[in-house]
Amino acid sequence: MTAHRILILGGTTEARRLAERLAQRDDIAATISLAGRTSDPIPLPLPTRNGGFGGVDGLVDYLAKESIDLIVDATHPFAEQISANAAKAAAVSGVKIFALRRPTWDQVEGDCWTRVADVGAAVIALGETPRTVFLAIGRQEAGRFAAAPQHDYLVRSVDPVEPPLAVPRCRYILTTGPFREADECRLLEENHVDAVVAKNSGGSATYGKIAAARRLGIEVIMVERPRQPGIEAVASVEAALTLIDQRRSPAWERGE
Ligand code: NAP
Repeated sequence: MTAHRILILGGTTEARRLAERLAQRDDIAATISLAGRTSDPIPLPLPTRNGGFGGVDGLVDYLAKESIDLIVDATHPFAEQISANAAKAAAVSGVKIFALRRPTWDQVEGDCWTRVADVGAAVIALGETPRTVFLAIGRQEAGRFAAAPQHDYLVRSVDPVEPPLAVPRCRYILTTGPFREADECRLLEENHVDAVVAKNSGGSATYGKIAAARRLGIEVIMVERPRQPGIEAVASVEAALTLIDQRRSPAWERGE
């Protein structure tokens, strides 16, 4: 049997874990694709490509050129464009696709969440009264908070926010997770934070700030996930591995 050719759209912990598992298999030839946003990504045990494909058409060409049998969309739940492009390119090319997406965080007792649909709504939800805001939404959309310059900001990201946030009071922390609840508590207390802005990314690596905010009674402005394309999705690497094997079985090919 020839090796099954898989394209993993990555940039997440789940994509890396799936890559680690697939790298051990002789019956699978997988490549992982990164957006190229992070200047110093963690090395991966699979052939890795970086940067955009050039929209849906570019991805369709790539799938044909590389004879891809299956796409696993394991991108960040807020990477809306690449997920939409992948679903369209798969439909045009007749290539199989499924998504690997970690479950969302759910509000639990003691949480003080204000749920908003997007980052623009989060800016408004902070209100007019000056606050000390911990922004933990990644660097790409941090600039939107220039529309609310009355607040003090503490911005954490992996790579620098460029250009810096156009507000009078802003401090930056450059670091990579995971983040523990105890450390997050200390960070929020020491900086007198009274609002956390977060994306509902799910997973354990960045949940510490949510648990810390609960413990300290701090409001979380929670940006909910954008709509995902209507493709099959699994929530764990194990489930993804099972689906990969099912998808290449002769019975599945015959539609049984
Ligand atoms: P995006 O808006 O969905 O993607 C924009 C373009 O980047 C895509 O159209 C595609 O370019 C390229 N691209 C994205 N992911 C790719 C991949 N895995 N391989 C190859 N090309 C890829 O995604 P984003 O700009 O990266 O991020 C959007 C949101 O997700 C932001 O809110 C960000 O904070 C959050 N986020 C993303 C990541 C991530 O790894 N992507 C990680 C953490 C947070 P072409 O159209 O040219 O193919």
